[in-house]
Amino acid sequence: MMNKPKIRIATTSLAGCFGCHMSFLDMDERLVALLEQVELNRSPLTDIKHCGPCDIGLIEGGVCNAENVHVLREFRDNCKILIAVGACAINGGVPSMRNHFTLRECLIETYVNGVGVENPQIPVDVELPLLLDKVHPIHDIVRVDYYLPGCPPSPDEFLQVLGALLEGKEPALPKKLIHYD
Ligand code: SF4
Repeated sequence: MMNKPKIRIATTSLAGCFGCHMSFLDMDERLVALLEQVELNRSPLTDIKHCGPCDIGLIEGGVCNAENVHVLREFRDNCKILIAVGACAINGGVPSMRNHFTLRECLIETYVNGVGVENPQIPVDVELPLLLDKVHPIHDIVRVDYYLPGCPPSPDEFLQVLGALLEGKEPALPKKLIHYD
C-alpha cells in the first residue's frame, strides 16, 4: 500500500520576534506526531533558503522592508494556503508602532539620539534591506487565506487549524481558543 504523501509546510518570520515560532515549537510532543503527516520546507527550523511548492505557508510578522516583500511574495506564489500568524502579521503589531513617526524620525532616534549610542550615524550599507516608510500587515501585500490571532497564538490554536487543514476541512477556531494578547 502506498504511503499517504506528507503535507508540505513552510514558515517564516518577517518583522516579528520569533515568539510565534516559539509557540509553534511549544506543541512539544504533539509536534512529533504532527511531523508524521507533515514535511517542513523553508523555515527557521530547517536550512532551506527558498520556499518551494507547499501546501501551507505560515507567516509570522508584518512587512517592514523590501526583503520582507520579496519573501512574502515567494511564499504566496508557492503556497496553496497562506496563514497570517499572530498580531504582527495580521495588523503590524508592535513593529507598526513606528508608523506614528516618519522613517527619518525613527532612524534619528535609534542611531543618532539613542541612549548609549557612540559614533552616531544612520547605517547606509547596500547589503541592508531597504526599509519601507510604514510597517504593513501582510494582507496589504498579498492575498491571505486564514488568520491565526494572538501574540502569540497558542500551541492549541496551531494544532486546531493545522489539524483541520490536514483532514481537508475548513479550519474554525472555537471561541475559547480565540485571544488577541
Ligand atoms: S505576534 Fe507577538 S509573538 Fe508573534 S511575532 Fe508578533 S510580537 Fe512576536
